[in-house]
Amino acid sequence: MGQARPPSAAWANHEDRMILQAAHLIDAQRLWARHMQLAKFGATPAGGVDRQALSAQDIAAQQTLLRWGAELDLVTARDEAGNLFLRLPGHEPDTAPVMTGSHLDSQPTGGKFDGVYGVLAGLEAMQAIRAAGIVPRRSIDLVAWMNEEGSRFAPGMMGSSVFCGASTLESILSVRDCHGISVRQGLEEVRAALPELPLWPLQRPVHAYVEAHIEQGPILERESCSIGVVTGIQGKRTFSVVLQGAEAHAGTSRRADRKDALMAALQVVQALAAHCIDEQDIVKFTVGRFQVRPNAPSVVPAQVEFSIDLRHPDSLVLQSLGDQIEPLCVQNAGRCSVVVRELSNAKSLEFPQAIRSLIAQNAQAQAFTCMDILSSAGHDARYMHAVCDSGMIFIPCAGGISHHEAESATEVDLARGARVLVETLLQLAA
Ligand SMILES: [Zn+2]
Repeated sequence: MGQARPPSAAWANHEDRMILQAAHLIDAQRLWARHMQLAKFGATPAGGVDRQALSAQDIAAQQTLLRWGAELDLVTARDEAGNLFLRLPGHEPDTAPVMTGSHLDSQPTGGKFDGVYGVLAGLEAMQAIRAAGIVPRRSIDLVAWMNEEGSRFAPGMMGSSVFCGASTLESILSVRDCHGISVRQGLEEVRAALPELPLWPLQRPVHAYVEAHIEQGPILERESCSIGVVTGIQGKRTFSVVLQGAEAHAGTSRRADRKDALMAALQVVQALAAHCIDEQDIVKFTVGRFQVRPNAPSVVPAQVEFSIDLRHPDSLVLQSLGDQIEPLCVQNAGRCSVVVRELSNAKSLEFPQAIRSLIAQNAQAQAFTCMDILSSAGHDARYMHAVCDSGMIFIPCAGGISHHEAESATEVDLARGARVLVETLLQLAA
């Protein structure tokens, strides 16, 4: 920051003081008020938020964010994947920016903080940097990623995956929601509603990425800890299993002749559970969807299709557990045939120690309690990790409840996370 950076201790102290000043200028009430304001877009009667990606509610939230950005004189832009950017320019604009942010879309019965917090903490950080009169060396980009939740358009983390080159733009544009509306159409509606914004290229270089997020789990609250230094994101494999039997009359068909897909599926699920479930409760094995056909009371089920969501923090364990799924299905399907399809396979990842140390030091310097924590949920930082040094800051949420209308966090914790964020961003941008 400043013009040049002479390597003197006096200057380093000056820089530290400026960074500390920015942290003090985080305004807890303003940050809280902005959460409440954005929560009006898609507000549900039970106090939650239903703000689907590229919907009218999402557009309204983006317009409000742009208005706040304009008040801070931030440079605004978008990319072809529908990601929205607000830049605080650095004094060496040719260097790759430091990026922060998260998402504005929600689950259908979501809360006020998931995703929104990362965007608003980033905005609050920029406002504090402006108020402290700091011009960092690198620019700082705030991003609102398109469709993180994957609720209206599947899969999730769409905007960040295209930005990072993990998926192609073409592959997402044709995805349709349950009403047949495509991502392409949704993006056109957003574009028409927002002011004309310059188009920044996908896959442009980023120096580092830091995402603030509510924990979405109970650990920080249980440990009375304000700041979670996220060590990594646990890996996840998803599968679809289809068991094919044969329809038969529930009264006249002999058991020996039946190919009952449901009975076979029960055997399969039991065998999979016995294989996956561990005493320490580290493996997460979930059959969340189970469809029986024809699903009629007096017909022997002909087909069962079910989903498997398998997670484990150790990639090697995840790989070996997941590799056993197909053979176990085949061994336990009895007289039915079985087809197992793997839908996704994301390894566990570990964020670089350097960024984790920065976050931890910044929390400790402000006397905030902090601890290492693994993210059990996926985030846009997963894709950013592949293209630049990345990290995440977690704050507690009440009862660990998230993806729920009752999702809640405190004004104090929101501000503490933003204070750690602004320091970390300024250090990375220096
Ligand atoms: Zn989220």
